[in-house]
Amino acid sequence: MSLLLQSRGVPVTLYADRTPDEMRASPRLANTAGHWVPTREREASLGINHWDDVAPPVPRLNVVVGGGIPLQFSADLGKGPIAVDYRIAMPRLLEDFIERGGTVVFGAVQREAMEGMAEQHDLLVVSSGRGTMTEVFPKLEERSPYSRPQRVLQISAAARVDLGAGSINYEAGAGRRGAAAVPVPDRRGAATIVYISAAADGPLPAIMNADLAGHERSHRAGRRIFATSSAANFPVSSSQVDWDAFATLGPRYDIAGALTPTVRRPYAQLDNGRRILALGDVHTVNDPLLGQGSNSASACAFIVADAIDEDPFGFDEVWAQRVAEPHVAPRRRGRRLHQHAASGAAAPAGRRGARGRVAVAGAG
Ligand SMILES: Cc1cc2nc3c(=O)[nH]c(=O)nc-3n(C[C@H](O)[C@H](O)[C@H](O)COP(=O)(O)OP(=O)(O)OC[C@H]3O[C@@H](n4cnc5c(N)ncnc54)[C@H](O)[C@@H]3O)c2cc1C
Repeated sequence: MSLLLQSRGVPVTLYADRTPDEMRASPRLANTAGHWVPTREREASLGINHWDDVAPPVPRLNVVVGGGIPLQFSADLGKGPIAVDYRIAMPRLLEDFIERGGTVVFGAVQREAMEGMAEQHDLLVVSSGRGTMTEVFPKLEERSPYSRPQRVLQISAAARVDLGAGSINYEAGAGRRGAAAVPVPDRRGAATIVYISAAADGPLPAIMNADLAGHERSHRAGRRIFATSSAANFPVSSSQVDWDAFATLGPRYDIAGALTPTVRRPYAQLDNGRRILALGDVHTVNDPLLGQGSNSASACAFIVADAIDEDPFGFDEVWAQRVAEPHVAPRRRGRRLHQHAASGAAAPAGRRGARGRVAVAGAG
């Protein structure tokens, strides 16, 4: 969003808790996010598609569903998604922003600082989904039916896993209650992500070991966990892996944990009356199995940037509500904006005047 606003001449200040070098040095893989074609096209439009010719293409999705009546099919993904380690991708995008003249303030933003920041800028957009900044945005109970994670994850990048032509392979098996799924997804050059997403109340979490992730001893024990759980639950995927040769890349390439899917209202009012927007995970935490968090954050970033750039009604409650709606129903946005414009509401004074600036907290 910062890069898009920057390209349109809207002044943006980005508040980031880490420098590009600190991002690169991060000890853990942040996610295994695949950027699907619409996201890749948005990135290309900004000239930040640096990995199009480098990341292995993933033109095929193979799905296997086990159980009494097994089902197997493949889908042609065309150009398909690509996945780049965020320790490589995010610092580069931050550097792009800086090289194009963007202002970055380094240091973790604290909740107490938000009022002051909102005073300094016309609009504050919060895009860091962790910590107390999130709690400013009320949870939407009707869209957040779960109070605990529905799945637990154990993920490692592994070497010497040959799944043939580039593909994402999902295999779903029946858990004791609910589905336990294994995508054995995207080949990335030397590494393949091996990904177990198990129903929290199914049989697999007992075999998995979140404590293992990020430790040197993960190599051998990780192989045992992936081999044991896959052989018993995901036989088709398991048969494609040479478990004797299988080796995880090590602690910097492990993820384990669980997330509770949560939707928050994407705008809030601070004590000083200033309105702020939420973007990305701070707005919606998707179950990673859906492969949508980054992609929907990218889509919403464009919606918000368009609204900031085009909407002539200022950053008040009505504006925030109107921006929020397309977060869930993007196709209706243009029509609603047009309707509002036709209603003759007053345009804001001096949006690009002395304070005409946007602040983005969180450089994801
Ligand atoms: C295992 C796993 C697999 C996933 N797979 C997919 C997938 O296939 N497809 C997909 O679309 N999504 C996927 N996701 C989800 C995706 O990673 C997130 O939805 C996405 O990264 C959210 O982006 P964000 O910008 O909101 O937050 P983040 O990516 O978390 O970025 C937030 C940024 O803010 C910075 N920050 C944090 N605190 C502060 C602070 N106090 N002040 C300033 N800066 C701060 C952080 O350093 C970070 O740079 C997956 C997630 C996981 C865990």
